[in-house]
Amino acid sequence: MFGTTKFHYLLNRLSVHRRNYSSRPDAVLKSFTAAIGNTPLVKLEKISKESGCNILVKCEYMNPGGSVKDRAALHLIKEAVDSKKITHLPQKDAPIPTIVEGTAGNTGIGLVHICNSLGFKCHIFMPNNQSKEKVEYLSALGAEISQFPPVPFSDPNNYNHKAKEFAEKTSNSVWTNQFDNTQNRQAHIETTGPEIWNQTDGKVDAIVFGAGTGGTLAGCSIYLKEKNKDIQVFSADPQGSVLYHFFKHGKLERTEGSSITEGIGQGRITDNLKGALVDDAIFVHDREAVNMTFRLLHEEGFFVGATSGLNVAAAVQVAKILGPGKNIVTCLCDTGSKYMNRLYSRAELEKRNLIEAIPAQYRKYLKP
Ligand code: PMP
Repeated sequence: MFGTTKFHYLLNRLSVHRRNYSSRPDAVLKSFTAAIGNTPLVKLEKISKESGCNILVKCEYMNPGGSVKDRAALHLIKEAVDSKKITHLPQKDAPIPTIVEGTAGNTGIGLVHICNSLGFKCHIFMPNNQSKEKVEYLSALGAEISQFPPVPFSDPNNYNHKAKEFAEKTSNSVWTNQFDNTQNRQAHIETTGPEIWNQTDGKVDAIVFGAGTGGTLAGCSIYLKEKNKDIQVFSADPQGSVLYHFFKHGKLERTEGSSITEGIGQGRITDNLKGALVDDAIFVHDREAVNMTFRLLHEEGFFVGATSGLNVAAAVQVAKILGPGKNIVTCLCDTGSKYMNRLYSRAELEKRNLIEAIPAQYRKYLKP
């Protein structure tokens, strides 16, 4: 399917990983993949003033696939091509390269966008409890989608094992394995970490991120601690995850409940997380995460998902721990439009007893 010209073009595009746009923000980029990364870092105005620290948010929802996971997706595909796990050399009747991944949604969305831009196919395996919008989005992009009941990773019917099995029996395909393939965190060692360092001129006191695969948390922690070991690294964890107790006390013990956040929280220590250099852990109740998500929308202007609210709520807790005047960096992971029927729906919030978490004056804007 690929002529030689297309082949060289593809390699060129996968190697365009970083663009320097500090000097020419208006420069023309070569491709979809070149538009990944180099997101703005913005100081929250009101929330910073209240907290006494500078709460700086990396606008990861501005990546072209709409989330922080575009970075990992690009790195995972690049590695699969570079290490020849899939071949796209021009061969008559060769099967089209297929990327196979288990994902809560955003990595899948990033992968499909990139696959479309490269002429690859993408097969997504996901739990069947994720937001309807993410599934519709993936489907509109042209992904093959297989959904499975949500069962723990230790169960052979977990969607990740299904993805692996499928890739093993499909020619010219690769299971990119975002949870345990450390190319995921490598994306953040090579891009997000350096961007944070450069955008703050090295004046960053702390970072705090929720973790799903742990790629963002681990990658940024590794890069930034290498630059300055005094930078404090905090994990931020939602209800029902083991990471809070793990980073706090070394125990794999779940906090109570389940969370409205999607894409963060873990039941195990992934290979990506094994390298995370974490100093302390923050627990964020759904009430705080939801409250902050609506404050981000109505007071700061950002329409984002609940993991972004959780990150910022955690950053405010970090401000209390570290004291005034610090620069605390976190990220806004994805857009709110993926959660219209959950986070932005009155019925759903009432069902989860979260309606009271939203400042009263903003409740009238909810979808009924
Ligand atoms: N927020 C959202 C909305 C996500 O989808 C994810 C990834 N699943 C994360 C945060 C966490 O990113 P990471 O996998 O790098 O830990």
